[in-house]
Amino acid sequence: MAQPQRVVTDTMAGLSLPDFDIWSERVATVLGQNPGPFTGPGTNTYLVGTGKRPILLDTGIGLDVYDPLLEKGLSETKGANELQEIILTHVHQDHIGGVPNVKKRFGELTVSKHIWPEKDQAYNFPLTYIEDGAQIETDGVTLRAIHTPGHAKDHLCYYLEEEKALFTGDLVLGAGTTVVPEEGGGLIQYMASLRKLLELDLAVIYPAHGPAIRDPYKKLNEYIAHRELREQQVLDALNAGLTQIPAMVKRIYTDVPEFLHVAAGNSLQSHLNKLKAEGVAKQDGEEWALV
Ligand SMILES: [Zn+2]
Repeated sequence: MAQPQRVVTDTMAGLSLPDFDIWSERVATVLGQNPGPFTGPGTNTYLVGTGKRPILLDTGIGLDVYDPLLEKGLSETKGANELQEIILTHVHQDHIGGVPNVKKRFGELTVSKHIWPEKDQAYNFPLTYIEDGAQIETDGVTLRAIHTPGHAKDHLCYYLEEEKALFTGDLVLGAGTTVVPEEGGGLIQYMASLRKLLELDLAVIYPAHGPAIRDPYKKLNEYIAHRELREQQVLDALNAGLTQIPAMVKRIYTDVPEFLHVAAGNSLQSHLNKLKAEGVAKQDGEEWALV
């Protein structure tokens, strides 16, 4: 029997979400209006809290169409027209990009995230740096920041204690898998972050892209198994004498259209980097081999 090619089989393709929506007593969404192959329906920005000044978690990419929608979503889901503050999962543009416009509309708000100096310097507004374990509160809500590098060095998940809910940013998505660039911490850190999340008491995951995940442990275990299978496929390819990434992509991603082969190659690169760091594989220019 042919080996399965992937563990995570769903994708963002064709997914849509409403412009704004109520997901729980404490959590509402406003869609960032930036759909695409990697963002799905767009970035979920979250209004968190039961009171009239909720927290805004992530801000979208900075599109003008988002701002009136945020105002409308805030009014219709929370009966509010003010925000308490902004918190960010990470510095990628489709999460931080909306900050200036949101501040223009809602006043001088505190913007909190974990530090990543090389990336943060691109933004000319003040940032408040928070660490793993930081607690942020508003009406009816206690959020705890959890440092989860891998996708981005500064990546924070936020645990909503009252709902046992976890905002996973881009670490875990509502469909498909995420990108694990080397500059974000690489696959070793990414896997460690996933395993750290397994230790939480979870009822639901609210991802930065796609719908809520109601079976959080199944999803986390699938994400881990997906990468473990991929690693085995890379080891098999190396064992079979394949030395270069494009050839490995052709062997492993037989179900993926050609235009995604660059992304697939990047993914294999992250696996090879992990194997190299673990002393299992070695690299000579473009050539890879088992140690
Ligand atoms: Zn991201």
